[in-house]
Amino acid sequence: MDRVHDRLADERDAAVARLDAAASVTVLCHVHPDADTIGSGLALGTIFERRGTPVQVSFAEPGALPESMEDLPGRHLLVDPADVADTVDLLVTVDCGSAARLGSLAGRLAGAAHTLVVDHHPSNTRFGDSHLVDADAVSTTAVLSEVFDRWGVEMDRDLAHCLYAGLVTDTGSFRWGGASAHVLADRLLATGIDGAAIARRLLDTHPFGWLPMLSAVLGTAQLVPGAAGGGGLVYAFVRRENTLGLRPEEVESVIDIVRTTAEAEVAAVVKEARDGSWSVSLRSKNSVDVADVATRLGGGGHRFAAGYTATGASDQVIARLLETLG
Ligand code: AMP
Ligand code: MN
Ligand code: MN
Repeated sequence: MDRVHDRLADERDAAVARLDAAASVTVLCHVHPDADTIGSGLALGTIFERRGTPVQVSFAEPGALPESMEDLPGRHLLVDPADVADTVDLLVTVDCGSAARLGSLAGRLAGAAHTLVVDHHPSNTRFGDSHLVDADAVSTTAVLSEVFDRWGVEMDRDLAHCLYAGLVTDTGSFRWGGASAHVLADRLLATGIDGAAIARRLLDTHPFGWLPMLSAVLGTAQLVPGAAGGGGLVYAFVRRENTLGLRPEEVESVIDIVRTTAEAEVAAVVKEARDGSWSVSLRSKNSVDVADVATRLGGGGHRFAAGYTATGASDQVIARLLETLG
């Protein structure tokens, strides 16, 4: 435990030195961004902007920022992936467990004089030349809050808004994460941000079309009691025809309903992508490490929340998942 602590303190000091010395910066978020990667990217970008350091923040896909994140401070720092500079002094990745999570922007790693990976995924492949990976942190924004303290950055409303966005979403609205999440929330809320409004915009606001979508998608749910060593699997499909005119926010909400099934240790939502492949979200309650399952299927994630991309017919996707779950 102490050794892990020492390693982290060393990584944090090295990260702060790297950030402090940067002459120009690119901050990259993961594909299909969530509020943790965007909140982290915009908070970091805001600090560099204030220091007068040239900074770009970007993510490879989709083409637009999720609407629920449009009011995050610093969003004007976001640039199209095509406009991300080919060469830069420091490239920082936030909330990315592997280079593949950068999508088409992974190629920019090679053009940076220095690369720094800031993350909280235990499965992180350490693909940069400096790393700050705290697998016990509840969010990447929580990792950054400690970086900012060490760096002497003063916490204000704009930074707190960005950090809170990642904190509230990655902790499932503080249902998991323990005391450290609440301690950080207390600090962030003390700046005067409206935590309830931030959470409502990110997690609790959907257009009416969400309801008929849920009706169709939840109607596909199946329970396999014998799966995952007898723990049970529940799964549902989200097909493209179900989500026409809806946002990623509506699609990503489905797993949080499906995973509540009492009879299943593991939940999966299999989402049809534009190119016909499937993006699979996995959640587990206790005994199953879904990061391990997702990694064996070509993806990654956390012990209780993970994901991967699959191809082939829908019944084959389920067959491979059942086989891997054991
Ligand atoms: P999601 O189900 O999309 O909310 O993802 C849950 C977790 O799994 C996230 O923390 C991601 O880091 C990870 N994850 C999701 N999809 C992938 C993927 N295709 N490859 C690697 N990790 C993934
Ligand atoms: Mn993320
Ligand atoms: Mn995260």
